Amino acid sequence: MAISQQTETSRPEWLVRMLRIRYVVAVTALIFVVMIAIGALTGPSAVGAFALIVIAAAIAVGGEDVARAIDPPPLPVRAGDASIEALVAALPDPIVAMERDGVVVAFNTQAGALAPGLRIGEPVSLALRMPHLIEAIRRALATGTTQRVEIAERVPLDRSYEVFVAPVALRGETRADLVLLTFHDLTAIRRVEEMRADFVANASHELRTPLAALLGFIETLQGPARNDTAAREKFLAIMQTQATRMARLIDDLLSLSRIELNAHQRPDTPVDLVAVVRQVADGLQTLARDRDVEVLLEAPPEPLLVLGSRDELARLVENLVENALKYGANGKRVELRVAREEVGGKDGVSLAVRDHGPGIAPEHLPRLTERFYRVDVAESRAQGGTGLGLALVKHILNRHGGRLAIESRQGQGATFIIRLPLITGRASVV
Ligand code: ADP
Repeated sequence: MAISQQTETSRPEWLVRMLRIRYVVAVTALIFVVMIAIGALTGPSAVGAFALIVIAAAIAVGGEDVARAIDPPPLPVRAGDASIEALVAALPDPIVAMERDGVVVAFNTQAGALAPGLRIGEPVSLALRMPHLIEAIRRALATGTTQRVEIAERVPLDRSYEVFVAPVALRGETRADLVLLTFHDLTAIRRVEEMRADFVANASHELRTPLAALLGFIETLQGPARNDTAAREKFLAIMQTQATRMARLIDDLLSLSRIELNAHQRPDTPVDLVAVVRQVADGLQTLARDRDVEVLLEAPPEPLLVLGSRDELARLVENLVENALKYGANGKRVELRVAREEVGGKDGVSLAVRDHGPGIAPEHLPRLTERFYRVDVAESRAQGGTGLGLALVKHILNRHGGRLAIESRQGQGATFIIRLPLITGRASVV
């Protein structure tokens, strides 16, 4: 159909007119031949009259008819239109094309996954039962301008989308013959926004608690306990603990943001993980003695090199060993084991930090590396924890291309295992 219309469009106007009146011409010619044959008309007058009739008919058929023949009206968009189907299939976002009356013409697989009820030839409102979206479609058609609406889906997953409802005039007319619905997934952006808001709320809350304690003690020392030497000593000691907690929290927050800032930059200095673990274990001897815990280290005599930042790796090991000393102290023993091992067919190095404390219930394991997540908030605070230690561990490992595994059974201690790619060959150690 499209081809025959194109052919007519390319013909000269006089030919189009002649074609349109061809039956009139044929019938008139026949009548004139019969009239000449029976002698009712003479030849020259018949030719003259015939010419006049043809010219009059050609002029009469002009106007709209010819204009339409030369420039046909917009093709109606049909459900299942192959060219529109091909177009929407090529687009990355979910997209639905429909007629003015809301009947679906085409949609891509992404849109099908989003709204499984979509069917070509059926009204879009059957699959997307959202009154404000239907209203936006009506507005788009009425005003001829693109509308934007947000829709949220709770089941099966919590997702939100912004939908652009664009009226499209395929042949450049003012009246749209197609409406396109384009869905843009906002879920990830919304999640990041929520995480950021949560993070700021959590960080402020963590800082506000020790700050409130400090202010309270300052007031007491300025007022009622002004001349009470014993109380002053006691309060100053508490204030020091609270101030230290704030300092540690700020320190952890700064480390976290620094590591995040460099998240996409792989460190490129060869570092001996055995030496790092040995140094951290030595540094924590005092804490271990205070907690009455024995720290045992098992490591090969040769260096095991990884590409890394020495400070960050030391921080990572320190967090894991400190946690084992803090939360697993009643197990009396913390074992550190550095070993060379194969990870996914490649050379790797692993460090296992094992304690024999109370362990961690399985429901907590997947959330332990979330910022500010603690199994027992009071216990963490009592131990001087910030709730950021394992989040730091996870971020440092990500930057180093490493992995963390946590194995634990309640009542049977916990083992935190990190795995990092090993560098083989010659490299100078930092
Ligand atoms: P925190 O500053 O509270 O120690 P972390 O991120 O280091 O923060 O740890 C998060 C939580 O994981 C801790 O509050 C604690 O409840 C739990 N946890 C970490 N390590 C251990 C462990 N070795 N044994 C038992 N629980 C642990």
